[in-house]
Amino acid sequence: MSKIDARLPRELTHRVSVGGVKVGGGAPVSVQSMCTTDTADPTATLAQIRELADAGCEIIRVAIPGAAALDGFREICAASPLPVVADIHFDHTLAIEACRRGAAALRVNPGNIGSWDKVDAVIDEAGAAGIPIRIGVNAGSLDPAFAEREDLTFVEKLVGSATSFVAHFRDRGFDDMVLSAKAHGVPTTVEVNRALSRELPEVPLHIGVTEAGTARQGTVKNAAAVGALLMEGIGDTIRLSLTADPVEEVNVAWDLLSAVGLRQLRPELVSCPTCGRCQWDLMGVASEVERRLSGVRSPITVAVMGCVVNGPGEARGADIGLAGGRGKAVLFASGEKIRTVDEADAVDELFAEIERRFS
Ligand code: SF4
Repeated sequence: MSKIDARLPRELTHRVSVGGVKVGGGAPVSVQSMCTTDTADPTATLAQIRELADAGCEIIRVAIPGAAALDGFREICAASPLPVVADIHFDHTLAIEACRRGAAALRVNPGNIGSWDKVDAVIDEAGAAGIPIRIGVNAGSLDPAFAEREDLTFVEKLVGSATSFVAHFRDRGFDDMVLSAKAHGVPTTVEVNRALSRELPEVPLHIGVTEAGTARQGTVKNAAAVGALLMEGIGDTIRLSLTADPVEEVNVAWDLLSAVGLRQLRPELVSCPTCGRCQWDLMGVASEVERRLSGVRSPITVAVMGCVVNGPGEARGADIGLAGGRGKAVLFASGEKIRTVDEADAVDELFAEIERRFS
């Protein structure tokens, strides 16, 4: 009788190292972002990388749009607290030079490099440097053998192109690949990554909805698509692109990893929607608690609930929390009451208890 492999898709992928960060092979799903600074300005770029590292970013990508961006690249790689991925389109010589100047990985779209000879030169240089390559595929960088075929859907073109690129890299003796096939929409993103996971189960996947939009819309799209895939065990590293400060991307990525139960970096806030039983300013309290939790590093769950009748019970899974009443609040932990406090002191009392128990 054949044995069923119960491992998740992300446990079956080949593990690569991006600097010190492992991607694939069941490694924790890593959080990436991309600098918005000019890479030719190492001071500004390093300042943003440090800010992103503080927020929990684990891999950072910088754009190399031309030779000028390479000038500061060596300094950025040498001083960065995070592994730096060089993002290169069109010009393979930039990719080769980025390998020589300390890139921890490359991101290239073979479909826009121009010829296989040029792609091979990049593959060989990355191989010599011992760094992985993220192969990107999107509507603008399909394999020409698939791009014009009218019998294929867009998803089939993406998957066909990705499969053909991976085969080429393997034929060249290069296995340290991460694959990303990007689309704007939620259904397409889910469909294409499911197909890639099925067709190329050993290749780690970098997932995210590309050009997802501003903070609100982009968060919803990424949560829907990336959340669904992560829950299916698909996806080895994530970048949730938002038209916003990249720190927000990292915050949203961690909130998503926490929400799907994969990784928790910071406290998670649980709060009820309120109803007619609520007798205190829950929205104000929740905002204040959220603000003050940004300074807490323990991965605890904190609840703020609208009433003492149902609050502690509804938030039984929380490590600690407050349930408000008329002028008073109940401080509780794991569903059990600790003590009653005055409403005016409730948030201070909560944080004093968090400090006592979890720091
Ligand atoms: S905790 Fe209380 S106030 Fe909040 S939704 Fe439940 S019953 Fe309503």
